[in-house]
Amino acid sequence: MIDTPKHQGLRNQLVESLKQKGIVDTAVLEAIRVIPRHLFLDSSFENFAYQDKAFPIGAGQTISHPYTVAFQSQLLRLEKEDKVLEIGTGSGYQTAVLVAMGARVYSIERQNELYKKTSHLLPKLGIRPKLMTFGDGYKGLPNYAPFDSIIVTAGAPFIPQPLMAQLKIGGRLIIPLGEETQIMTELVRLNETQFEKHEYGDFKFVPMLENKN
Ligand code: SAH
Repeated sequence: MIDTPKHQGLRNQLVESLKQKGIVDTAVLEAIRVIPRHLFLDSSFENFAYQDKAFPIGAGQTISHPYTVAFQSQLLRLEKEDKVLEIGTGSGYQTAVLVAMGARVYSIERQNELYKKTSHLLPKLGIRPKLMTFGDGYKGLPNYAPFDSIIVTAGAPFIPQPLMAQLKIGGRLIIPLGEETQIMTELVRLNETQFEKHEYGDFKFVPMLENKN
């Protein structure tokens, strides 16, 4: 598992391209500059790891495009030490970006194969989320709530009620909503009962699935 000057150079180019696409949060850009995305992919994709593309990661799932990771991370408007719940650990790349930004990350994955693979990989890379767990993201993590923010990295057909309930007042949920394509949606919790909603255009995610069988 090595990172080389060649990989670092490719990452710098990726960061420049993300800036051109409108990513301005310096903490996001810096995290993408340091996290070796090629180590989150099967070695056969290594040469393409710094293109702005999604790739298969096993169990029929994909690692999100770097732009999507950057865009969602920026929408979170993180402050250092924020407590963040991530739904859909997948390869762990988004998790790693959030940890590099200084967040305390709790991440849920419902594919056991990916959960196992990623919970071995991240410590090897020196990346330490607070918790990685195998389970159903529709339920969130009530025992660890409330969260400063929640990020969903799979396409959700609706907003899961438990996730809204597990947000702090003032906290935000970033969730791609829809079946075929998804609208990136932000919900800010104003008080116990009220949420403010913003929409940020179309994206394409693998589906957020319920009740694995
Ligand atoms: N953040 C990941 C994206 C992976 S794709 C990355 O950067 O690699 C979305 C992930 O969400 C998949 O791994 C999928 O298995 C997972 N997922 C889908 N439905 C889920 C659910 N209900 N609970 C938790 N994870 C889920």
